[in-house]
Amino acid sequence: MSGAALRDAARQCRRRVILSYGLGADSTAILLRWLADPSSRDFDLSDLVVITAQTGDEWPETGHLVEQFIYPLLAAHGVRTVQVARGGHYERDGIVVLDDTRHPTACHIDGVYKLSTEMVTMGTVPQVGGVRKCSLRFKGWVLDQWISAFTRGRPFDHVVGFELGELDRVATDREQGRLPGRNPLYPLVEWGWFRGDALAYIRQRLGVDWPKSACTFCPFALTHREGLERTLPRFIRHPEVAMLPLSMEHAAVALNARQGLIGGERLVDVMTTRPDAGPLMQQFHQHLDEQEWALYRVQRAFRAKNGDMRTMGNAVRNVQVLGTGDRARVLASLQRVAARHGRTLEADGPHRRLWLHRRNNLFPCVEELVTAAPAVVETKKGPGFDKAWASGLNGPRQLAVVA
Ligand code: SF4
Repeated sequence: MSGAALRDAARQCRRRVILSYGLGADSTAILLRWLADPSSRDFDLSDLVVITAQTGDEWPETGHLVEQFIYPLLAAHGVRTVQVARGGHYERDGIVVLDDTRHPTACHIDGVYKLSTEMVTMGTVPQVGGVRKCSLRFKGWVLDQWISAFTRGRPFDHVVGFELGELDRVATDREQGRLPGRNPLYPLVEWGWFRGDALAYIRQRLGVDWPKSACTFCPFALTHREGLERTLPRFIRHPEVAMLPLSMEHAAVALNARQGLIGGERLVDVMTTRPDAGPLMQQFHQHLDEQEWALYRVQRAFRAKNGDMRTMGNAVRNVQVLGTGDRARVLASLQRVAARHGRTLEADGPHRRLWLHRRNNLFPCVEELVTAAPAVVETKKGPGFDKAWASGLNGPRQLAVVA
């Protein structure tokens, strides 16, 4: 066998260990222990790849801590460190490799095409029901693209930082991780570590309380009391960060009253009740006043699930920008449109909506409204809208839409 063939064979035989580094306490603790205690791993650090999918919306303080404590260690050990991000809305936009180095210094938390851009231009927030679509699109899919190109079907160990309190996520990951050659590993589970153990280990080694890693507007960080107690003070300490979640929610609620970042409840309502959030809320309302606003027509068509008219299937939406201007001007336009229809506006906190058609509880059905919000949402018709709208108009007990 020639020298080149031998080198190629050796490359094929090398162990490939890929750690999905989400920048949170769990995967940070794994890394720290592997670096400090070689007996905690059964591979050489030269075979390790640490990879992060950047959504573009991570908390800045997480990025600072990674740069201050973790990247210098990875650089000192020459660990290959990769950062990747989604290139655009469509899969055909591919992924962007932000960094691929054995001497990492900068944590590229700004990503490329941000999850927040997708949410804001669509006038929505990440949905907590069902699968975590945002995570699948901005993390899972992105990681899979890079890993597939790297492994090319060869066996690899995929290390995920689930801890002992997340056995349900371990089971799902085992079932759903479908990359060829993938061997999933969960060191924290093997070590018998809960999240508290990971946090304590980081505190012992680095002297810091590692913050929760997430997008700043992550609804999953707000759905339980512990998450709220952790996140709301963070918003108050960092008002510049809080503007994005509050603005994103505001636009989403203007178009759909059922949207709210706290499991259907609204972040703005919860913040408003906090005595320590006064200056932040004042800043937010000023921020809203300073935006360009738009008048939107929103049509939503709801399908029946499996043909059962009592069960809602999925919905598809058509959003049109009817005009733009400053806030007062756009609200005055909305008032004039309402007067033309001989209707009063629905008042919902700071939101005003003109209902042209309300849906009933039988499906398929439709709803239609005109509303005002900052001019951040794009005109967009969802796939299959025209057919779903026509079918909803003719659905059970529907009345004609007021033109
Ligand atoms: S951190 Fe939250 S919002 Fe961001 S991708 Fe994950 S689940 Fe979605």
